[in-house]
This record gives sequence, structure tokens and C-alpha cells, in this order.
Amino acid sequence: MPVTGRINRRPWREHIDFYEAAELMRHLGTAALIICLYLTGMRPQEVQAMRSGCCPDPGPDEDATPRRHLIRSRHFKNVINDDGHPVSAGEDREIPWVAITPVVHAIRVLERMVAQDELLLSAAHHDFQHGRGHHGALKKSTLNRRIEDFVVWVNQKAEAHGLPEQVVPADPHGAIRMSRFRRTLAWHIARRPGGLIALAIQYGHMRTVLDARTSSGYGSRSRRGIHSVLDVETALAAADTAARLRDRIAAGEKISGPAAHRALTAAAQTPRFEGRIVPKTFAKKAAKFLAQDGVVLFDNPDALLICAFKRDNALCEPDLGATAPRQYDCRPGCGNAIRTDTHARLLRERADEIDKLAAHTPEPIGKRLRTNADQLRATADAHDAAAQTAEALA
Ligand code: SF4
Repeated sequence: MPVTGRINRRPWREHIDFYEAAELMRHLGTAALIICLYLTGMRPQEVQAMRSGCCPDPGPDEDATPRRHLIRSRHFKNVINDDGHPVSAGEDREIPWVAITPVVHAIRVLERMVAQDELLLSAAHHDFQHGRGHHGALKKSTLNRRIEDFVVWVNQKAEAHGLPEQVVPADPHGAIRMSRFRRTLAWHIARRPGGLIALAIQYGHMRTVLDARTSSGYGSRSRRGIHSVLDVETALAAADTAARLRDRIAAGEKISGPAAHRALTAAAQTPRFEGRIVPKTFAKKAAKFLAQDGVVLFDNPDALLICAFKRDNALCEPDLGATAPRQYDCRPGCGNAIRTDTHARLLRERADEIDKLAAHTPEPIGKRLRTNADQLRATADAHDAAAQTAEALA
């Protein structure tokens, strides 16, 4: 079979040795596991319980619009029997999880490794080399070890392909374990709305999917599970944004934008979180805090602005009842946007970077890049012309 996989546009290797196949399959299984953990919000035990066939292709609806893939599987947390004892086998989750495209691909890869209706991480199939005949899914400790091995392998590949920036750095908080992905997903959704394009779309889309509480069955699940994790991260991110805005105002920076008054009020009212120890009760407080329409601040490092989110003003068309904007679809001219002098400086720096890129880019893309840079400078100029101090705005 020809090698088709590519890293940085080059074939990822020239050939696969027969004796390497098992190890590569192990890493492929781990990669699929990571994608499922990272992009569904499922708990580790829930991912371990997924079976082949759990995510069928849904086909189009009556209007021929493609429907979302759904994962039907078991959940375990808070599952108790009539006597109030936890049920270790869990139960089928009433509301399915939504699977976005990379997750569907990962599940399809795992389905090719195991038999129909078998656990996707079945020990018998994924540990066939050792022939230990274990039943059930691979254990958590085994999967954690596989993630560590996968990181080592990825780093070797990154070095071999001359891509040191792709190396997974050593983590000061210790090895990457299964339980960390869920929280990290929430962190990215709350704080990196405008990272790399692919990630921005992925995480932005995930918020829409996970946040569709009113438009999908997720709404009936109150705010438990991933929603409360998301709420906590979003509230902490909003508090950090408010604190940063206060610091900038205190340093004498000016503010512009239609929501400047509201943003000042929000910055003054939002408490500062000095630490990261989050008690269980915080989830409810976070949800209440986010429900205040118009006074919660969302940093948007991609659009270089702060969004003082008021649903009725929002041009990014958030869902009915949404408590956060669709920042990955932020539109110019929105009544919720504000900018500080720092934003104006960063806009100009970005414009200079784009101009440099344009100088080495053929037409007509180069021309488009220069137009983009000019627009960023015009936005910075508009800020300078309209910006006022906090005292003048008060
Ligand atoms: S369009 Fe408006 S509401 Fe939406 S993210 Fe941008 S500033 Fe916020």
C-alpha cells in the first residue's frame, strides 16, 4: 500500500515495517482516544464504555439537511439504584452526546480495530500482542501510560521532521492524564475563541453544540456535567478579563466602543479571583453570574476587543437564551464591542505583521492581505479618535 499520510506536506515515512505495525496501531488507538476525550466533554469512564456502533451515521432530515452525529452510550456519575447505592455498571444515558467530525473519524478508526458491538477500547483487541485475554476495556492506568508513550512518540516524530514547535512540552503539572482533557476543553472554549483558525472553529463550534441547552435535549439536563465545567471556566475567564480591564484603566488607558459604559460598570462590579481553588458550590454561582445579560465581559484576542455581551445587541447571532457570544463569528460594528489603547496597539502590530507577509506573497493574495492590514489600522485610528478616559465616560 502506498504511504498517503503527510506531516507538514511531506510523507510521514517511507515505509512501515511489519514489526512496527502493532506499536503504530497502539499509538493510533491512543490518538483516537485523545480526540474522543478532548472533543466530546465525556468523562474518562464514559469514553471507556463506548461500543462499536454507538455513533451511527444519522442521514439527512426531512429538509435534506445533514443531522448531527450522536453518541449513545453509558454514563456513571450519580447513577444510583432504588436503595440509593451507586450502580457500578452505570446506565444508558438518556441524552446522547453530540459528536463533531473529528470525533466521528476517531470512532470510525476504533471501530475498525474491534468487532461489532465490542467496546471501542476493548483490552482483548487493543492488547492483542500480549494475549492476556483481559475482558472489558483497557484500564485507566493503562490508557494513561499509553498517552505518555504517545507523547514521547509524537515528540520523536516532530524532531525527525524538523518541527520543534510541534513538540508537546513537558507539563509542570505532571503527566497528561485522561481526566485532564475535559477541563482543558472547557478552558479552551472559555479562553481561546480566536486561537488557530482550526481550533477556533472547533472550540467555537463546540460551545454552540454544548451550549445548545434550549434548542436540544441538553437543555433538559439543567446545568450539570459539562455545562457546569464550562460555566466555571467561562466565569473565571470573564473575571480575569474584568480585572485586566480595571488594570488598564488604572494605568490611564482610554476606552472606545458603543459598550464602553457597560464595560466600565462590569469591570467595577466583577470580583477578582486570586486563586484557582474552585469549590463545588462555585458552579451555581458561575451560572448565576453568567446569566446577567450585558455585564459579563468576554475577551476576544482574535478580534482584539472585549465583548460586553448583551444578547439583543449581538451581531454574531447567539442562540436564544445563550449566556455567551459566538466569539469565533464576531462581526465588526457590533454594539457590544469595546477597545482599549492596548487593543489599538496590538491592531497596528498585527497590521505590520500582515504587511510583512504580504511582501512575500504573490498577487492577488498579497493585495488582499494589504487591504486587511489597512482595515486593522483604520480600526486602530477609529479607536484613537473616539477613545475617552474612564473619568470622562463616568
Ligand atoms: S459580534 Fe458582538 S456579541 Fe458577538 S462576539 Fe462580537 S462583540 Fe460580542
